[in-house]
Amino acid sequence: MTTIEDAAGAVRETGGELRAGGTDVMTRTTGPLVDLLGVPGLRGVTWRPDGSAAIGALTTIADLLADDRLTAAYPALAATAAAVATPQIRNVATVGGNLLQRNRCWYLRTPGFSCHHTGGDACPAREGAHLYSAVIDQGPCVAPHPSSLAVALLTYGATADVHGRSPLGIADLYGDGGDPTRDHRLAPGEILQTVRMPVPAPSERAAYRRATSRETAEWPLAEAAARLTLDGDTITSAAVAVGGVARTPLLLPEVAEALLGKPAAEETLAAAADLATARATPLPQTAYKLPLLRTTVLDTLTAACTPRQGSMGVPPL
Ligand SMILES: Cc1cc2nc3c(=O)[nH]c(=O)nc-3n(C[C@H](O)[C@H](O)[C@H](O)COP(=O)(O)OP(=O)(O)OC[C@H]3O[C@@H](n4cnc5c(N)ncnc54)[C@H](O)[C@@H]3O)c2cc1C
Ligand code: SF4
Repeated sequence: MTTIEDAAGAVRETGGELRAGGTDVMTRTTGPLVDLLGVPGLRGVTWRPDGSAAIGALTTIADLLADDRLTAAYPALAATAAAVATPQIRNVATVGGNLLQRNRCWYLRTPGFSCHHTGGDACPAREGAHLYSAVIDQGPCVAPHPSSLAVALLTYGATADVHGRSPLGIADLYGDGGDPTRDHRLAPGEILQTVRMPVPAPSERAAYRRATSRETAEWPLAEAAARLTLDGDTITSAAVAVGGVARTPLLLPEVAEALLGKPAAEETLAAAADLATARATPLPQTAYKLPLLRTTVLDTLTAACTPRQGSMGVPPL
C-alpha cells in the first residue's frame, strides 16, 4: 500500500485486517491482511522545537530502545519497551501494533470456543480457567489488556493521532472496558499514525516494574509505571498506571493523589501503594494478583523516587 487512504480503503473493501510487524495478527488470522509497512511517513521519531517527541506508529520497539534521546527523555517508556517480549520480537513489533494488539485469552485464541468477544453470550474464562485474568472487573470480558507500552504512555499523558480524527488521549483508545467485543475503540480501517509525547519536565522521575511468571518472553501478571516530579523531597505531581490486571490499561488517580504534596518517604509510598487494589474485585483464581499488584506499584514508586534508579525500571535485555 502506498498511502494511508489506500490501506484504509483496502481494509473496508476486503473486510480484512491491517498488518504492521505481524507478530500478533499473523498468529490469529490467515487474512485478508493489508500491509502497512509500505505506507511512507509512519516510522521514526521526530522532535518538535519544544523538546517533545512524536513517534510514528510503525516505529519498532527496538527503534525506541536504540534512540538515546528518547530513552533519556522518557525513561519509563524505555524501561517498558525493554521488558516487552524478546529482542527478536522487538525488532519487528511496532508501537502501533503493540497498542492495538488483541488480548491473549486462551479461549479466544483456541478454535471452537464462542464468547462475548466473538459475539457469543458467555465468557468461558469467567466460569473456567482464568488464572491470568483481570482483578479489576470492568465488564463481561475479563481478559487483561496486553499492551505494556500503553501503561507507560498513560503516565506521560501521551496522545494518539488517528487518521481522519481529532487527537485522542491514550485512555480514549480503550474506553472503559465495558465492550467485550473490542480490545480498542478504533473501527476497522482506522489507522493510528503517531503517538505524541509531552515535553519532559526538568525535575521528573519515572520508572516501570513488572511481575512475571518467568523472566522473559512473557506478558506480565501485573505491571506498573509511575511518573513523578519532586520539589526537594516533596512530590509535586504524580501519574501511576497499571497493566495486566484489567480489561484496559488503567491510570490509578487514587494512588497518585495519595502522593501529592507528601515527602517521598517510605511511609508515603507504602500508603499510596495500598490504594492500588482499592478497585479490585478479583475472580476466584486471580486473588493472588492483589499482593503482586501492590508490591509492583510500591517497587515502581520506590524506583522512581530513588536517585539514579529513578529513571530506568528494567535494564535492556
Ligand atoms: C512471547 C511474547 C511476549 C510478549 N510480551 C509482551 C509484553 O510483555 N508486553 C506487550 O505489550 N506485548 C508483548 N508481546 C506482544 C507484542 O509486543 C505484540 O505482538 C506486538 O507489539 C504487536 O506489534 P506488531 O507490529 O507486530 O502488530 P501486528 O500484529 O501487525 O498488529 C496487531 C494489531 O494492531 C493492528 N494495527 C497495527 N498497527 C496499526 C496501526 N498503525 N493502526 C491501526 N491498527 C494497527 C493490526 O490490525 C492488528 O489488529 C509479546 C509477544 C510475544 C510473542
Ligand atoms: S469474553 Fe473475554 S475473557 Fe471471556 S472468554 Fe472471551 S476473550 Fe476470554
